[in-house]
Amino acid sequence: MARSAPAIVILGQGSLATARKLQQLYPDALIHGLAERVEGADRSYQEFGATLRQLYQQGTPIIALCAAGIVIRTLAPLLLEKGAEPPVLAVAEDGSAVVPLLGGLGGVNVMAREIAAGLGVAAAITTSGELRFGTCLLNPPSGYALGDLELGKRFVSDLLGGESVRIEGAAPWLAEARLPEDRHARLTIRVGSAECEPAANELLIYPRSVLIACNGNIAGADALREALHQKKIAVQSVACLLAADRDMASPALREAAAELGVPLRFAPAAGSVAELAQQAVPQLLPALSVGEDIAIAVASQPLDPQQIGRPRGRLAVIGLGPGAAELMVPAVKAELARANDILGYETYVRMAGPFRADQVMHCTDNREEMQRARHAFELAAQGRSVVVVSSGDPGVFAMAAAVLEALHESSEPSWHQVELEILPGVSASLATAAQAGAPLGHDFCVLSLSDNLKPWAIIEKRLDLASQADLALAFYNPISRSRPWQLGRALEIVRQHRTPQTPVVLGRDIGRPGQTLRVITLGELTPEQVDMRTMVLIGSSTTCVFPKAGGGEWVYTPRWYGQKP
Ligand code: SAH
Repeated sequence: MARSAPAIVILGQGSLATARKLQQLYPDALIHGLAERVEGADRSYQEFGATLRQLYQQGTPIIALCAAGIVIRTLAPLLLEKGAEPPVLAVAEDGSAVVPLLGGLGGVNVMAREIAAGLGVAAAITTSGELRFGTCLLNPPSGYALGDLELGKRFVSDLLGGESVRIEGAAPWLAEARLPEDRHARLTIRVGSAECEPAANELLIYPRSVLIACNGNIAGADALREALHQKKIAVQSVACLLAADRDMASPALREAAAELGVPLRFAPAAGSVAELAQQAVPQLLPALSVGEDIAIAVASQPLDPQQIGRPRGRLAVIGLGPGAAELMVPAVKAELARANDILGYETYVRMAGPFRADQVMHCTDNREEMQRARHAFELAAQGRSVVVVSSGDPGVFAMAAAVLEALHESSEPSWHQVELEILPGVSASLATAAQAGAPLGHDFCVLSLSDNLKPWAIIEKRLDLASQADLALAFYNPISRSRPWQLGRALEIVRQHRTPQTPVVLGRDIGRPGQTLRVITLGELTPEQVDMRTMVLIGSSTTCVFPKAGGGEWVYTPRWYGQKP
């Protein structure tokens, strides 16, 4: 499988020049710089340890420009966990040394050599097998899978002990390796897609040359394993699953592919699953059918799943949170990293970036919500991974509802087949409340004061009833140039039910540069203090204010109501 773009992590300004050189080797890599120490990085982070561990857990290759010891100590707590290990390298900040640390099976030595060549130094390769044979036998090139790691390690240590080896099957990459070959050797490297029992004197390497075409009603991964076993084909040789477009939303297929750890691809339906396979990949040997739902086809070479049919498209509607990177949920960060296309209002798309050169930004005007939602489905229906960005939470006066409405209105089957997910964010009312204390600590009511999409009379009615019900109030879209008088009128209604002493919190550009937070009273509040980048929180009858050490005030609404319990 293709390696994902590495993250280049730096701690100080002095490393930026070397980091940029590395970025020339990996144009998709982003430079992560420590906030306050580094200016001009692509991403900034607050905490080195947490950042490194998060990247590692996401499987992102890491190039850290710092002492190897720091990296080892930081990642140590994660090393006993199972799971794939991404390449991790330490590079001296002046570019004079490259040390591959982790991810021997993920190609760390290959990266170390690439980097060393780019910097004009030698890589500190310490892997014996690799040094002796010039390749890591346990890390076959993409398109091939190792049978069993533990047996493999044993095999390599026998080889290092001085034994010779013979190669069965086609292993073109081994031609360049310096292996002690002998036709009569006891140790054998066997390359092929046939199912076979692992033996101690054999290193099994499977070409990923098998395609399974199947229907959406298969009984999970076990049915596929059983079919492979019947035809004596190794499960490790499966390159991908292929199904008809109409089965795109099938959970059984998705789960089976995930369980086998292979990509799931789709192509237009054909007469049978065997024909489906043959049409998508004409160079396959004739497919072996297993019942009506499964056909297995073997190619003479490894297959590249990227070239077979297309993936199921994905559309994620994400919330960036108020603005600060620390307040963005990790699932949203991961989604942004995998996106092919990013759609949204220009300000938010820029806030979500920077993006790699291969990612396409589609910036539109804030008002064109439905058009943007439809455009997102058109792109996702082509098999792309699409992200629609909102600030705060996408479900709070933002794009999630527009996207669902566009889908609901559409009878286009390919739109309904798209994998759609809504990923939440920290909404402005919650980000503002947290900075002020807990003004929304009891029941509260969230309202948008914009009458662009609803009649003003409804807003007045809701304001009146919510104020009467003594709910704390959170106003989104409180005012704008085209809606100059509405906030004044709204305050008149609230004042009929609340005293002038009621605490009010005004949060402007919360979580963004130049943020301001003000605590005033309802009596003091005038529309001039508010603009469209402001969140207005109005307390209930129980909301309290008290001074904070060091200046300012805490605001909270107690969790009890009426009598203190
Ligand atoms: N989906 C967004 C809200 C969109 S409506 C969310 O969940 O936060 C836009 C309104 O949200 C603005 O008019 C303003 O009232 C408020 N808002 C959005 N971001 C803000 C921020 N960073 N600081 C203060 N208010 C903000």
